[in-house]
Amino acid sequence: MKQIVILSGKGGTGKTSLTAALAHIAADKHTLVLADADVDAANLEILLKPEKTEEFIFIGGYKAEIDKDRCTNCGVCSDVCRFSAVIPPSSLEKNYRIDRISCEGCNSCVYQCPINAITSERTTAGAWFVSRSVYGTLYHAEMKAGEENSGKLVTTVKNAAIKKCGELGESILLVDGPPGIGCPVIAACAGADLAVISTEPGVSAIHDLTRILETVRHFGITPAVCINRSDINPDKTREIEEFCIEDKIPLLGRIPYDPAVTRSMSKGLPVNAFDPSAPSSIAISGIWKSVSSLI
Ligand code: SF4
Ligand code: SF4
Repeated sequence: MKQIVILSGKGGTGKTSLTAALAHIAADKHTLVLADADVDAANLEILLKPEKTEEFIFIGGYKAEIDKDRCTNCGVCSDVCRFSAVIPPSSLEKNYRIDRISCEGCNSCVYQCPINAITSERTTAGAWFVSRSVYGTLYHAEMKAGEENSGKLVTTVKNAAIKKCGELGESILLVDGPPGIGCPVIAACAGADLAVISTEPGVSAIHDLTRILETVRHFGITPAVCINRSDINPDKTREIEEFCIEDKIPLLGRIPYDPAVTRSMSKGLPVNAFDPSAPSSIAISGIWKSVSSLI
């Protein structure tokens, strides 16, 4: 199995459109497994239109809850909570209550409540799915708003995808990574052979690129860069290219600004399935050739 993860130092650099387009090309000659590791905003399925075949509940961390019938409103829980998750009584609420989004599940309040009026339980934080797409099996997930542990959910999704690759033998795992450099990105990168970093020629491009490169290299993953909407700022594009040459990072190619990408998204298709002759489709074909030579 070869594992390719598509990343970006920040959101909105065309990462998911690129992943879907690469899936469209790669599936022609390879057995493909796909993972959408952007569990906080999963949208690869919009472009792949998969059919869900299995669904699993994802259990998150602990959350505290106050038994209002027993609570004497002594306020101890509010004093011990370091996360300001205990909300005092107000004109609307007569009792102390817990804001589940702020609660970190540390259980301090549970131990300190003098009358044991607080319980703490693990909650359903989301779900993950196995789906059938025309390009291969897709593993994806949905994290409930305000829930944490998205890194753990990414690991769950990826482990299931890796297991599927193991069953299929020779295959490629294509991972649509989350934006940024946080814990879910690290989980999405784990074990990858190549990180394709999608960047755009904006003012923070080099800064974002530097941060994601540090993350990727820390985990011993080979990075490569492609520049999306490369023609919107030719000076910045040149700057990114010079940076990559100096830092010995393979440049996979440039993708020009192309209205066909937006049109393909509204149709729910990878751009090269929507219009193979579009400038972006042609550029992405070249990028796939460069990717193939690196794995
Ligand atoms: S510590 Fe217990 S009794 Fe006191 S306010 Fe909190 S929940 Fe109520
Ligand atoms: S479990 Fe911890 S974070 Fe949650 S309300 Fe209690 S003290 Fe605060």
